[in-house]
Amino acid sequence: MLEKVVIANRGEIALRILRACRELGIKTVALHSEADRDAKYVKLADESVCIGPAQATESYLNVPAVIAAAEITDATAVHPGYGFLAENADFAERVEQSGFVFVGPRAETIRLMGDKISAIDAISAAGVPCVPGSGGALGNDPVQWLELGATIGYPVMVKAAAGGGGKGMRIVNSEVDLVNAVSLTRAEAMAAFANDSVYMEKFLEHPRHIEVQVASDEFGNAIHLGDRDCSVQRRHQKVIEEAPAPGIAAAARERISQLCVEACLRIRYRGVGTFEFLYEQGEFYFIEMNTRIQVEHPVSEMVTGVDIVKLQLMIAAGEAVPFAQSDIEIAGHAVECRINAEDPETFLPSPGQIVRYHQPGGPGIRVDSHIYNNYTVPPYYDSLIAKVVAYGVNRAEAIARMRGALQEMVIDGIQTNIPLHQTVLANKAFVDGGISVDFLNDIGVGTG
Ligand code: ADP
Repeated sequence: MLEKVVIANRGEIALRILRACRELGIKTVALHSEADRDAKYVKLADESVCIGPAQATESYLNVPAVIAAAEITDATAVHPGYGFLAENADFAERVEQSGFVFVGPRAETIRLMGDKISAIDAISAAGVPCVPGSGGALGNDPVQWLELGATIGYPVMVKAAAGGGGKGMRIVNSEVDLVNAVSLTRAEAMAAFANDSVYMEKFLEHPRHIEVQVASDEFGNAIHLGDRDCSVQRRHQKVIEEAPAPGIAAAARERISQLCVEACLRIRYRGVGTFEFLYEQGEFYFIEMNTRIQVEHPVSEMVTGVDIVKLQLMIAAGEAVPFAQSDIEIAGHAVECRINAEDPETFLPSPGQIVRYHQPGGPGIRVDSHIYNNYTVPPYYDSLIAKVVAYGVNRAEAIARMRGALQEMVIDGIQTNIPLHQTVLANKAFVDGGISVDFLNDIGVGTG
């Protein structure tokens, strides 16, 4: 096993990684910015290193500072969590070249999947269905764009190859808007991702977002841990996730999961990862692969009983996936609500001091969070402060438990999106299951 892991992240995922390491007997080094000095996981870690000022570009995104911290603490490995440097292939390469284990796939895999165009190329070659589209980057000739638009059929979506976090994509309803849209998306992509490569794909009008969790080792063992539905989204960002995706026929579920496993073997994937799909009228369409642990991994953990972070650390340590596909059984249902420090109506961030915190509990409730009484949510980072996960023998029980948990949960001093979650959990279409990614818009919340 790995001896000492540097946690190159913050917030709830830093604590999640710390807990997995502790269980495996791995020593931990918490890296933190000046703004996160008082974080709970920093105190719980065996060692901690301040890697820079509050601004993420000077701390959590500061590659030389992260590498130096691994060196001075004589660490074995670096776990990047999600966000920040997690899908930065150059960083993964630097980590390995400096003699540490990168807890994630090979740098070349991250690079392949980090560019959505090469990812679609590789994954479609492995036989996984993708969204009909340009099949490559758009060139410089607007006539070619118009031809592609006509072939694909409007509406289309122009997407940045390097896009992420719901940014770098634009819907185009008709050809009169296309040329302008491509130019704008390109300019935005250049500014946001320093890469102006864009592609075009069919805009699916009412898809669901369904994804498949996989794990694969160096020895040719690949398994899937079932699917998740992440269709409750605001501005293409997930708000509520659940496992398994409701209302999908067992055969279709099995077929797409098996294709993902085969794709893992074909690209010699190492680590845990997620294949993301849009699902419409019974068909799955691959959109991208995430080569890291995801925010919503707990719902899969609850229904499979597999600790995905521990599995990730074991694979990184060079161990084999310790179970076969036939050992994995999906039992019950789990729902996760992302609790954000934000105004539930305007969605503006709401940082500040939490003057009273009461964590919910009871059967089937799990809370992944780094916050506590009097904790101050810093204004510099993502607004996610807690994930409430509810497990039940079936979906109805999981939803009922989640409603109870959110009613019990007290976070005073700052604003949170708990009211938004309560609205969704009371909505008939959501309760019936199978809503599309337009759901929040359709019910008129999340538009602020
Ligand atoms: P990101 O990398 O920014 O998360 P994704 O490609 O994963 O971007 O897409 C995020 C979300 O955007 C999807 O879950 C879906 O809601 C929407 N989306 C992306 N591509 C399409 C498409 N072709 N048609 C309709 N919606 C799309």
